[in-house]
Amino acid sequence: MRYISTRGDAPALGFEDVLLTGLATDGGLYVPESLPHFSIEEIRSWRGLSYSELAFNVMHPFVDDAIPADDFRAMLEETYKEFAHQAVAPLVQLDTNEWVMELFRGPTLAFKDFALQLLGRLLDYVLEKRKQHVVIMGATSGDTGSAAIEGCRRCEHVDIFILHPHERVSEVQRRQMTTVLGDNIHNIAVRGNFDDCQRMVKESFGDQSFLGGKTQLAAVNSINWARIMAQIVYYFHASLALGGPDRSLAFSVPTGNFGDIFAGYLAKKMGLPISQLVIATNRNDILHRFMSGNRYEQHQLEHTLSPSMDIMVSSNFERLLFDLHGRDGALVKDLLERAQQGPVSIEDYRWRHARKLFDSDAVDDKLTCDTIREVFERNEYLLDPHTAIGVRAARNCRRDPAVPMVTLGTAHPAKFPDAIAESGLSIKPELPVHMADLFEREERCSVLENDLSAVQSFIADHWKHA
Ligand SMILES: *Cc1c(COP(=O)(O)O)cnc(C)c1O
Repeated sequence: MRYISTRGDAPALGFEDVLLTGLATDGGLYVPESLPHFSIEEIRSWRGLSYSELAFNVMHPFVDDAIPADDFRAMLEETYKEFAHQAVAPLVQLDTNEWVMELFRGPTLAFKDFALQLLGRLLDYVLEKRKQHVVIMGATSGDTGSAAIEGCRRCEHVDIFILHPHERVSEVQRRQMTTVLGDNIHNIAVRGNFDDCQRMVKESFGDQSFLGGKTQLAAVNSINWARIMAQIVYYFHASLALGGPDRSLAFSVPTGNFGDIFAGYLAKKMGLPISQLVIATNRNDILHRFMSGNRYEQHQLEHTLSPSMDIMVSSNFERLLFDLHGRDGALVKDLLERAQQGPVSIEDYRWRHARKLFDSDAVDDKLTCDTIREVFERNEYLLDPHTAIGVRAARNCRRDPAVPMVTLGTAHPAKFPDAIAESGLSIKPELPVHMADLFEREERCSVLENDLSAVQSFIADHWKHA
Protein backbone atom coordinates (compact mmCIF):
# COMPACT_ATOMS: atom_id res chain seq x y z
CA MET A 1 0.00 0.00 0.00
CA ARG A 2 1.30 3.44 -0.98
CA TYR A 3 0.43 6.65 0.84
CA ILE A 4 0.18 10.07 -0.78
CA SER A 5 0.05 13.59 0.60
CA THR A 6 -3.14 15.65 0.61
CA ARG A 7 -1.15 18.57 -0.81
CA GLY A 8 0.14 16.60 -3.75
CA ASP A 9 3.75 17.64 -3.58
CA ALA A 10 5.57 15.15 -1.34
CA PRO A 11 6.97 11.71 -2.19
CA ALA A 12 4.60 8.75 -1.87
CA LEU A 13 5.63 6.52 1.05
CA GLY A 14 5.08 2.96 2.20
CA PHE A 15 3.48 2.03 5.52
CA GLU A 16 6.69 2.01 7.58
CA ASP A 17 7.72 5.49 6.56
CA VAL A 18 4.24 6.87 7.02
CA LEU A 19 4.27 5.46 10.53
CA LEU A 20 7.50 7.29 11.36
CA THR A 21 6.55 10.58 9.69
CA GLY A 22 4.48 13.45 11.00
CA LEU A 23 3.35 15.86 8.34
CA ALA A 24 4.39 15.29 4.74
CA THR A 25 7.19 17.54 3.50
CA ASP A 26 4.67 19.69 1.61
CA GLY A 27 2.71 20.32 4.82
CA GLY A 28 -0.01 17.80 3.90
CA LEU A 29 -1.27 14.66 5.61
CA TYR A 30 -0.74 11.16 4.31
CA VAL A 31 -3.70 9.10 3.04
CA PRO A 32 -3.80 5.69 1.32
CA GLU A 33 -3.48 5.92 -2.45
CA SER A 34 -6.50 3.62 -2.74
CA LEU A 35 -8.80 2.00 -0.20
CA PRO A 36 -9.47 -1.71 0.15
CA HIS A 37 -13.09 -2.65 -0.51
CA PHE A 38 -14.87 -5.53 1.19
CA SER A 39 -18.01 -7.20 -0.21
CA ILE A 40 -21.07 -7.78 1.94
CA GLU A 41 -20.38 -11.55 1.78
CA GLU A 42 -16.87 -11.02 3.05
CA ILE A 43 -17.96 -8.76 5.90
CA ARG A 44 -20.72 -11.23 6.78
CA SER A 45 -18.13 -13.99 7.04
CA TRP A 46 -16.45 -12.03 9.86
CA ARG A 47 -19.37 -12.54 12.26
CA GLY A 48 -18.23 -14.13 15.47
CA LEU A 49 -14.59 -13.16 15.13
CA SER A 50 -12.78 -11.78 18.16
CA TYR A 51 -12.01 -8.07 18.13
CA SER A 52 -8.36 -8.64 17.29
CA GLU A 53 -9.17 -11.07 14.47
CA LEU A 54 -11.57 -8.54 13.01
CA ALA A 55 -8.93 -5.85 13.42
CA PHE A 56 -6.51 -7.96 11.43
CA ASN A 57 -8.95 -8.36 8.54
CA VAL A 58 -9.76 -4.67 8.38
CA MET A 59 -6.22 -3.35 8.80
CA HIS A 60 -4.10 -5.89 7.01
CA PRO A 61 -4.49 -4.31 3.53
CA PHE A 62 -3.11 -1.03 4.91
CA VAL A 63 -0.08 -2.63 6.50
CA ASP A 64 0.44 -4.99 3.60
CA ASP A 65 3.86 -6.61 3.45
CA ALA A 66 5.46 -4.14 5.89
CA ILE A 67 4.76 -6.59 8.73
CA PRO A 68 4.39 -10.36 8.28
CA ALA A 69 0.79 -11.46 8.92
CA ASP A 70 1.59 -13.61 11.95
CA ASP A 71 3.54 -10.86 13.66
CA PHE A 72 0.78 -8.36 13.01
CA ARG A 73 -1.82 -10.79 14.37
CA ALA A 74 0.20 -11.28 17.54
CA MET A 75 0.58 -7.55 17.99
CA LEU A 76 -3.17 -7.02 17.73
CA GLU A 77 -3.88 -9.86 20.10
CA GLU A 78 -1.57 -8.32 22.73
CA THR A 79 -2.98 -4.85 22.24
CA TYR A 80 -6.65 -5.67 22.69
CA LYS A 81 -6.07 -8.27 25.39
CA GLU A 82 -5.26 -5.37 27.72
CA PHE A 83 -8.72 -3.91 27.48
CA ALA A 84 -10.78 -4.44 30.59
CA HIS A 85 -13.76 -5.98 28.83
CA GLN A 86 -14.10 -9.27 27.03
CA ALA A 87 -15.88 -7.57 24.10
CA VAL A 88 -13.17 -4.85 23.92
CA ALA A 89 -15.76 -2.33 22.68
CA PRO A 90 -19.05 -3.34 24.35
CA LEU A 91 -22.35 -1.90 23.14
CA VAL A 92 -24.80 -0.53 25.68
CA GLN A 93 -28.43 0.07 24.81
CA LEU A 94 -30.09 3.33 25.90
CA ASP A 95 -33.36 3.00 24.07
CA THR A 96 -34.94 1.28 21.06
CA ASN A 97 -32.33 1.56 18.33
CA GLU A 98 -30.18 3.83 20.46
CA TRP A 99 -26.76 2.59 21.54
CA VAL A 100 -23.46 3.70 23.02
CA MET A 101 -20.33 1.85 21.98
CA GLU A 102 -17.97 2.00 24.96
CA LEU A 103 -14.52 2.78 23.62
CA PHE A 104 -13.08 3.56 27.05
CA ARG A 105 -12.21 0.13 28.42
CA GLY A 106 -8.55 0.47 27.50
CA PRO A 107 -5.73 1.21 29.96
CA THR A 108 -6.21 5.01 29.98
CA LEU A 109 -10.00 5.12 29.72
CA ALA A 110 -10.46 6.96 26.42
CA PHE A 111 -10.90 5.76 22.84
CA LYS A 112 -7.39 6.91 22.02
CA ASP A 113 -6.15 3.63 23.50
CA PHE A 114 -7.49 1.76 20.47
CA ALA A 115 -4.89 3.38 18.27
CA LEU A 116 -2.11 4.41 20.63
CA GLN A 117 -1.66 1.07 22.37
CA LEU A 118 -1.16 -0.38 18.91
CA LEU A 119 1.00 2.48 17.66
CA GLY A 120 3.63 1.91 20.36
CA ARG A 121 3.94 -1.71 19.29
CA LEU A 122 4.05 -0.86 15.59
CA LEU A 123 6.76 1.73 16.15
CA ASP A 124 8.94 -0.55 18.20
CA TYR A 125 8.57 -3.38 15.70
CA VAL A 126 9.61 -1.25 12.75
CA LEU A 127 12.41 0.48 14.65
CA GLU A 128 13.83 -2.84 15.84
CA LYS A 129 13.95 -4.05 12.26
CA ARG A 130 15.62 -0.87 11.06
CA LYS A 131 17.91 -0.48 14.08
CA GLN A 132 16.60 3.03 14.49
CA HIS A 133 15.45 5.19 17.39
CA VAL A 134 12.83 7.93 17.62
CA VAL A 135 11.89 10.60 20.11
CA ILE A 136 8.18 11.15 20.39
CA MET A 137 7.38 14.70 21.24
CA GLY A 138 3.78 15.69 21.80
CA ALA A 139 1.65 18.29 23.50
CA THR A 140 -1.49 17.27 25.33
CA SER A 141 -4.42 18.86 27.05
CA GLY A 142 -5.33 15.45 28.41
CA ASP A 143 -6.21 12.13 26.80
CA THR A 144 -3.63 11.83 24.03
CA GLY A 145 -0.70 12.22 26.41
CA SER A 146 -1.71 9.47 28.78
CA ALA A 147 -2.62 7.02 26.01
CA ALA A 148 0.65 7.71 24.18
CA ILE A 149 2.72 7.27 27.35
CA GLU A 150 1.00 4.02 28.18
CA GLY A 151 1.42 2.86 24.58
CA CYS A 152 5.18 3.55 24.54
CA ARG A 153 5.95 2.39 28.05
CA ARG A 154 7.50 -0.87 26.91
CA CYS A 155 9.14 0.41 23.75
CA GLU A 156 12.86 -0.20 23.51
CA HIS A 157 13.50 2.20 20.66
CA VAL A 158 11.32 5.11 21.66
CA ASP A 159 11.75 7.91 24.17
CA ILE A 160 8.62 9.91 24.78
CA PHE A 161 8.38 13.51 25.95
CA ILE A 162 4.89 14.82 26.61
CA LEU A 163 4.36 18.51 27.31
CA HIS A 164 1.32 19.61 29.27
CA PRO A 165 0.42 23.06 30.60
CA HIS A 166 1.52 23.23 34.25
CA GLU A 167 -1.47 23.17 36.64
CA ARG A 168 -3.97 23.30 33.76
CA VAL A 169 -4.91 19.66 33.26
CA SER A 170 -7.26 17.77 35.57
CA GLU A 171 -5.72 15.80 38.41
CA VAL A 172 -6.90 12.46 37.00
CA GLN A 173 -5.43 13.30 33.61
CA ARG A 174 -2.14 14.51 35.08
CA ARG A 175 -1.74 11.47 37.29
CA GLN A 176 -2.50 9.13 34.40
CA MET A 177 0.62 10.55 32.74
CA THR A 178 2.97 11.23 35.63
CA THR A 179 2.50 7.95 37.47
CA VAL A 180 3.72 5.83 34.57
CA LEU A 181 7.34 5.38 35.56
CA GLY A 182 10.01 4.30 33.11
CA ASP A 183 13.35 5.65 31.99
CA ASN A 184 12.02 6.36 28.48
CA ILE A 185 9.05 8.37 29.77
CA HIS A 186 9.36 12.09 30.38
CA ASN A 187 6.56 14.35 31.48
CA ILE A 188 7.22 18.04 31.10
CA ALA A 189 4.91 20.56 32.75
CA VAL A 190 5.41 23.86 30.95
CA ARG A 191 4.71 27.12 32.77
CA GLY A 192 2.39 28.23 29.97
CA ASN A 193 -0.83 27.20 28.27
CA PHE A 194 -1.66 24.40 25.83
CA ASP A 195 -0.99 26.57 22.81
CA ASP A 196 2.52 27.33 24.11
CA CYS A 197 3.14 23.59 24.41
CA GLN A 198 1.82 22.92 20.95
CA ARG A 199 3.88 25.71 19.42
CA MET A 200 7.06 24.30 20.93
CA VAL A 201 6.28 20.88 19.49
CA LYS A 202 5.61 22.34 16.05
CA GLU A 203 8.80 24.38 16.05
CA SER A 204 10.83 21.39 17.17
CA PHE A 205 9.48 19.27 14.30
CA GLY A 206 10.38 22.07 11.92
CA ASP A 207 14.00 22.24 13.10
CA GLN A 208 15.30 19.05 14.75
CA SER A 209 18.92 20.19 14.97
CA PHE A 210 18.71 20.21 18.79
CA LEU A 211 18.82 16.40 18.61
CA GLY A 212 22.25 16.55 17.01
CA GLY A 213 21.28 14.24 14.14
CA LYS A 214 21.39 11.19 16.42
CA THR A 215 17.65 10.48 16.46
CA GLN A 216 14.48 11.89 14.91
CA LEU A 217 11.08 13.07 16.09
CA ALA A 218 7.90 11.04 15.55
CA ALA A 219 4.29 12.17 15.98
CA VAL A 220 1.50 10.63 18.02
CA ASN A 221 -1.29 13.07 17.28
CA SER A 222 -4.03 12.14 14.85
CA ILE A 223 -2.12 13.39 11.83
CA ASN A 224 -0.40 9.99 12.14
CA TRP A 225 -2.18 7.70 9.67
CA ALA A 226 -1.86 4.62 11.88
CA ARG A 227 -4.20 6.21 14.39
CA ILE A 228 -6.97 6.64 11.84
CA MET A 229 -6.43 3.12 10.55
CA ALA A 230 -6.96 1.54 13.97
CA GLN A 231 -10.15 3.53 14.48
CA ILE A 232 -11.83 2.14 11.36
CA VAL A 233 -12.09 -1.27 13.00
CA TYR A 234 -14.68 -0.48 15.64
CA TYR A 235 -17.23 0.66 13.07
CA PHE A 236 -17.13 -2.85 11.63
CA HIS A 237 -17.31 -4.26 15.13
CA ALA A 238 -20.49 -2.29 15.92
CA SER A 239 -22.11 -3.30 12.68
CA LEU A 240 -21.41 -7.00 13.15
CA ALA A 241 -22.72 -6.81 16.71
CA LEU A 242 -26.00 -5.21 15.64
CA GLY A 243 -27.11 -7.24 12.65
CA GLY A 244 -24.78 -5.87 10.00
CA PRO A 245 -23.80 -5.98 7.29
CA ASP A 246 -27.34 -7.01 6.30
CA ARG A 247 -28.68 -3.92 7.93
CA SER A 248 -27.16 -0.47 7.94
CA LEU A 249 -26.26 1.61 10.97
CA ALA A 250 -26.01 5.29 11.85
CA PHE A 251 -23.17 6.70 13.95
CA SER A 252 -22.82 9.85 16.01
CA VAL A 253 -19.22 10.80 16.73
CA PRO A 254 -18.02 13.38 19.26
CA THR A 255 -15.15 15.01 17.44
CA GLY A 256 -12.83 17.99 17.36
CA ASN A 257 -9.98 17.11 15.05
CA PHE A 258 -12.18 15.06 12.69
CA GLY A 259 -10.11 11.95 13.38
CA ASP A 260 -12.68 9.54 14.72
CA ILE A 261 -15.43 10.52 12.30
CA PHE A 262 -13.05 10.38 9.36
CA ALA A 263 -12.41 6.74 10.28
CA GLY A 264 -16.18 6.15 10.03
CA TYR A 265 -16.28 7.76 6.62
CA LEU A 266 -13.50 5.41 5.50
CA ALA A 267 -15.33 2.36 6.91
CA LYS A 268 -18.30 3.30 4.74
CA LYS A 269 -16.12 3.72 1.66
CA MET A 270 -14.61 0.31 2.37
CA GLY A 271 -18.03 -1.28 1.98
CA LEU A 272 -19.65 -1.15 5.43
CA PRO A 273 -23.34 -0.22 5.19
CA ILE A 274 -23.57 3.07 7.10
CA SER A 275 -26.62 5.21 6.42
CA GLN A 276 -25.73 8.26 8.47
CA LEU A 277 -22.67 9.87 10.06
CA VAL A 278 -23.25 12.68 12.56
CA ILE A 279 -20.44 15.09 13.42
CA ALA A 280 -20.97 16.08 17.06
CA THR A 281 -18.99 19.10 18.30
CA ASN A 282 -19.01 21.28 21.38
CA ARG A 283 -18.97 25.10 21.21
CA ASN A 284 -15.71 24.89 19.28
CA ASP A 285 -17.84 24.21 16.27
CA ILE A 286 -15.78 24.99 13.18
CA LEU A 287 -16.93 21.72 11.61
CA HIS A 288 -20.60 22.33 12.33
CA ARG A 289 -20.38 25.87 10.97
CA PHE A 290 -18.79 24.57 7.80
CA MET A 291 -21.43 21.87 7.35
CA SER A 292 -24.28 24.32 7.97
CA GLY A 293 -23.07 27.30 5.97
CA ASN A 294 -20.06 26.40 3.81
CA ARG A 295 -17.75 28.71 5.73
CA TYR A 296 -14.53 27.37 7.19
CA GLU A 297 -13.45 29.96 9.70
CA GLN A 298 -11.31 29.91 12.82
CA HIS A 299 -12.91 31.34 15.96
CA GLN A 300 -11.44 32.07 19.38
CA LEU A 301 -10.88 28.94 21.50
CA GLU A 302 -13.62 28.28 24.06
CA HIS A 303 -12.95 26.27 27.20
CA THR A 304 -15.77 23.76 27.67
CA LEU A 305 -16.70 20.83 29.88
CA SER A 306 -15.49 18.55 27.05
CA PRO A 307 -11.84 19.68 26.88
CA SER A 308 -10.69 16.90 24.55
CA MET A 309 -12.72 18.54 21.80
CA ASP A 310 -11.54 22.09 22.46
CA ILE A 311 -9.85 22.98 19.18
CA MET A 312 -9.78 25.94 16.81
CA VAL A 313 -8.85 24.16 13.59
CA SER A 314 -9.61 20.58 12.74
CA SER A 315 -6.44 19.00 11.40
CA ASN A 316 -7.89 15.82 9.89
CA PHE A 317 -10.54 17.71 8.00
CA GLU A 318 -7.84 18.19 5.38
CA ARG A 319 -8.13 14.49 4.57
CA LEU A 320 -11.82 14.91 3.73
CA LEU A 321 -11.18 18.11 1.77
CA PHE A 322 -8.76 16.12 -0.36
CA ASP A 323 -11.54 13.70 -1.36
CA LEU A 324 -14.07 16.50 -1.81
CA HIS A 325 -11.65 18.10 -4.29
CA GLY A 326 -11.26 14.99 -6.41
CA ARG A 327 -7.93 14.24 -4.69
CA ASP A 328 -6.32 17.27 -6.28
CA GLY A 329 -3.56 18.27 -3.87
CA ALA A 330 -2.94 21.64 -5.51
CA LEU A 331 -6.55 22.69 -4.87
CA VAL A 332 -6.30 21.62 -1.21
CA LYS A 333 -3.03 23.43 -0.76
CA ASP A 334 -4.45 26.64 -2.18
CA LEU A 335 -7.61 26.39 -0.06
CA LEU A 336 -5.76 25.77 3.20
CA GLU A 337 -3.27 28.52 2.55
CA ARG A 338 -6.15 30.93 2.04
CA ALA A 339 -7.77 29.56 5.21
CA GLN A 340 -4.76 30.84 7.16
CA GLN A 341 -5.71 34.39 6.19
CA GLY A 342 -9.45 34.27 6.84
CA PRO A 343 -12.72 32.44 6.19
CA VAL A 344 -12.94 30.23 3.09
CA SER A 345 -15.72 28.39 1.24
CA ILE A 346 -15.59 25.58 -1.28
CA GLU A 347 -17.54 25.30 -4.54
CA ASP A 348 -21.20 24.77 -3.89
CA TYR A 349 -21.44 21.34 -5.54
CA ARG A 350 -18.54 20.05 -3.43
CA TRP A 351 -20.13 21.37 -0.27
CA ARG A 352 -23.47 19.76 -1.18
CA HIS A 353 -21.63 16.49 -1.54
CA ALA A 354 -20.17 16.92 1.96
CA ARG A 355 -23.67 17.53 3.29
CA LYS A 356 -24.81 14.24 1.79
CA LEU A 357 -22.02 12.45 3.61
CA PHE A 358 -22.44 14.04 7.04
CA ASP A 359 -24.94 15.65 9.35
CA SER A 360 -23.71 17.85 12.17
CA ASP A 361 -24.63 19.50 15.42
CA ALA A 362 -22.95 21.67 18.07
CA VAL A 363 -23.85 21.08 21.71
CA ASP A 364 -23.08 23.63 24.43
CA ASP A 365 -22.19 22.96 28.07
CA LYS A 366 -25.73 23.36 29.33
CA LEU A 367 -27.15 20.82 26.88
CA THR A 368 -24.23 18.53 27.65
CA CYS A 369 -25.12 18.60 31.34
CA ASP A 370 -28.85 18.20 30.61
CA THR A 371 -28.06 15.10 28.57
CA ILE A 372 -25.84 13.58 31.26
CA ARG A 373 -28.62 14.14 33.79
CA GLU A 374 -31.48 12.94 31.59
CA VAL A 375 -29.72 9.75 30.59
CA PHE A 376 -28.72 9.03 34.17
CA GLU A 377 -32.23 9.62 35.47
CA ARG A 378 -33.78 7.48 32.76
CA ASN A 379 -31.21 4.67 32.51
CA GLU A 380 -28.92 4.95 35.54
CA TYR A 381 -26.15 5.14 32.99
CA LEU A 382 -23.47 7.77 33.39
CA LEU A 383 -22.14 9.47 30.25
CA ASP A 384 -18.91 11.42 30.14
CA PRO A 385 -19.35 14.94 28.69
CA HIS A 386 -17.90 14.04 25.27
CA THR A 387 -20.15 11.05 24.84
CA ALA A 388 -23.10 13.11 26.06
CA ILE A 389 -22.50 15.52 23.18
CA GLY A 390 -22.63 12.56 20.81
CA VAL A 391 -25.89 11.28 22.28
CA ARG A 392 -27.50 14.70 22.10
CA ALA A 393 -26.39 15.27 18.51
CA ALA A 394 -27.65 11.79 17.59
CA ARG A 395 -31.08 12.61 18.98
CA ASN A 396 -31.19 15.95 17.17
CA CYS A 397 -29.98 14.70 13.82
CA ARG A 398 -31.29 11.20 13.35
CA ARG A 399 -33.02 10.64 10.04
CA ASP A 400 -34.56 7.19 10.38
CA PRO A 401 -35.71 5.85 13.77
CA ALA A 402 -35.72 2.31 12.34
CA VAL A 403 -31.94 2.40 11.87
CA PRO A 404 -29.85 1.68 14.97
CA MET A 405 -27.95 4.82 15.99
CA VAL A 406 -24.62 4.19 17.72
CA THR A 407 -22.87 6.99 19.59
CA LEU A 408 -19.16 6.47 20.12
CA GLY A 409 -18.51 6.53 23.87
CA THR A 410 -15.14 8.25 23.82
CA ALA A 411 -14.21 8.47 27.51
CA HIS A 412 -14.98 7.00 30.91
CA PRO A 413 -17.03 9.40 33.09
CA ALA A 414 -14.52 9.15 35.95
CA LYS A 415 -12.07 11.10 33.81
CA PHE A 416 -14.33 14.14 33.94
CA PRO A 417 -15.85 14.41 37.42
CA ASP A 418 -16.33 18.18 37.08
CA ALA A 419 -18.87 17.82 34.29
CA ILE A 420 -20.76 15.20 36.29
CA ALA A 421 -20.92 17.56 39.28
CA GLU A 422 -21.94 20.44 37.03
CA SER A 423 -24.85 18.42 35.70
CA GLY A 424 -26.32 18.40 39.19
CA LEU A 425 -25.93 14.70 39.90
CA SER A 426 -24.71 13.98 43.39
CA ILE A 427 -22.86 10.80 42.48
CA LYS A 428 -19.12 10.64 42.09
CA PRO A 429 -17.99 8.46 39.18
CA GLU A 430 -15.58 5.80 40.39
CA LEU A 431 -12.36 4.89 38.65
CA PRO A 432 -12.27 1.26 37.50
CA VAL A 433 -10.60 -1.16 39.88
CA HIS A 434 -7.30 -1.31 37.95
CA MET A 435 -6.87 2.42 38.58
CA ALA A 436 -8.39 2.72 42.01
CA ASP A 437 -5.01 3.58 43.60
CA LEU A 438 -4.19 6.33 41.08
CA PHE A 439 -4.17 9.01 43.76
CA GLU A 440 -1.62 7.13 45.87
CA ARG A 441 0.86 6.38 43.09
CA GLU A 442 4.23 8.10 42.83
CA GLU A 443 4.40 10.91 40.27
CA ARG A 444 7.35 11.93 38.13
CA CYS A 445 7.34 15.18 36.19
CA SER A 446 9.71 18.07 35.39
CA VAL A 447 8.43 21.63 35.52
CA LEU A 448 10.10 23.83 32.90
CA GLU A 449 9.85 27.49 31.94
CA ASN A 450 7.81 28.46 28.91
CA ASP A 451 10.92 28.59 26.77
CA LEU A 452 11.72 26.56 23.66
CA SER A 453 15.44 26.24 24.26
CA ALA A 454 14.89 25.08 27.86
CA VAL A 455 12.56 22.34 26.62
CA GLN A 456 14.83 21.34 23.76
CA SER A 457 17.93 21.07 25.92
CA PHE A 458 15.96 19.00 28.42
CA ILE A 459 15.06 16.58 25.64
CA ALA A 460 18.59 16.53 24.20
CA ASP A 461 19.95 15.69 27.67
CA HIS A 462 17.40 13.07 28.63
CA TRP A 463 16.73 10.73 25.76
CA LYS A 464 18.17 7.33 26.43
CA HIS A 465 21.33 7.38 24.41
CA ALA A 466 22.04 11.07 24.79
C1 LIG B 1 -9.64 13.03 21.49
C2 LIG B 1 -11.02 12.93 22.01
C3 LIG B 1 -12.14 13.29 21.23
C4 LIG B 1 -12.02 13.87 19.83
O1 LIG B 1 -11.37 13.02 18.94
P1 LIG B 1 -11.05 13.46 17.44
O2 LIG B 1 -9.75 12.84 17.11
O3 LIG B 1 -11.02 14.92 17.44
O4 LIG B 1 -12.12 12.91 16.60
C5 LIG B 1 -13.40 13.10 21.76
N1 LIG B 1 -13.57 12.62 23.02
C6 LIG B 1 -12.53 12.28 23.80
C7 LIG B 1 -12.79 11.78 25.17
C8 LIG B 1 -11.22 12.42 23.34
O5 LIG B 1 -10.19 12.08 24.12
